[in-house]
Amino acid sequence: MITTYHRPQTLDEALALLSRPNTQPLGGGTLLSHHKSDPIEAVDLQSLGLDSITRKGNDLELGATLTLQALFESEDCPAALKTAIKFEAPINIRNTATVAGTLVAADGRSTFGTALLSLDAKITVMSNQSSVNSEQSSVIGVGEYLLTHPKGLITSISIPLNAKFAFEYVSKTPADKPLICAALTQWNSGRTRLVLGGYGKSPLLAMDGTEADGLDTAARNAYHEATDEWASADYRMDVGATLAKRCLSTF
Ligand SMILES: Cc1cc2nc3c(=O)[nH]c(=O)nc-3n(C[C@H](O)[C@H](O)[C@H](O)COP(=O)(O)OP(=O)(O)OC[C@H]3O[C@@H](n4cnc5c(N)ncnc54)[C@H](O)[C@@H]3O)c2cc1C
Repeated sequence: MITTYHRPQTLDEALALLSRPNTQPLGGGTLLSHHKSDPIEAVDLQSLGLDSITRKGNDLELGATLTLQALFESEDCPAALKTAIKFEAPINIRNTATVAGTLVAADGRSTFGTALLSLDAKITVMSNQSSVNSEQSSVIGVGEYLLTHPKGLITSISIPLNAKFAFEYVSKTPADKPLICAALTQWNSGRTRLVLGGYGKSPLLAMDGTEADGLDTAARNAYHEATDEWASADYRMDVGATLAKRCLSTF
């Protein structure tokens, strides 16, 4: 339950508030406003100007409070990422939900999380060490972020624009979240990164290799135990391998 609402006007102010116990960043609030357990103080990020989308060299830098829909509508957003965003949530939610809030809340069925893990997005996290009154900023890969969920405020997410990216999926209906999806990124160096979604607590990093050989086996291995109420592991293994190859064929 949200007991107190803060709307800081500067990043310093936000970080100072978030260094206090029982405080949490409020992005779009689509999930946090449903928070039902312990009392928390919400620190609304909307006045911090963190909603930009900027090309920086070979990267696209997304401010933490950029909405999913603003990213979807940007001409800089790769086409396959747009497909992944469309499946993340319906348009009313996309208009409010932020890229950082969506990443923090991502589980294995998150198409946006699956895409960002394949793209090896870099997350900038800031925190305020109140004991020594100093701000710290670190950049970590999305894989590490999803694994460790470090404390702190995400201020931006950076994705590469100099890589080929494909996203393929299978879902029960055209509007349903995929049961199985594959996100494949390939850099000019040949580096190839396959992530599979549609299952479990977090998207599955199936392969990060120097070339595309072995995609099929990597997809099968990653889904080896992926049975749930929606699909069997055998089905996911077969379809996942097909989707991975289909992604590669689009490059
Ligand atoms: C009616 C409804 C329908 C929904 N439908 C779907 C759906 O179909 N599919 C789906 O996947 N989800 C759905 N959701 C869940 C929710 O919309 C998503 O998880 C959403 O993308 C969260 O983004 P947000 O910006 O609103 O996050 P918030 O609710 O603001 O925050 C979510 C979490 O992220 C943290 N956070 C936010 N910003 C930052 C930051 N900058 N740094 C660090 N931590 C941060 C918050 O503290 C909180 O823990 C739905 C929610 C509602 C209310």
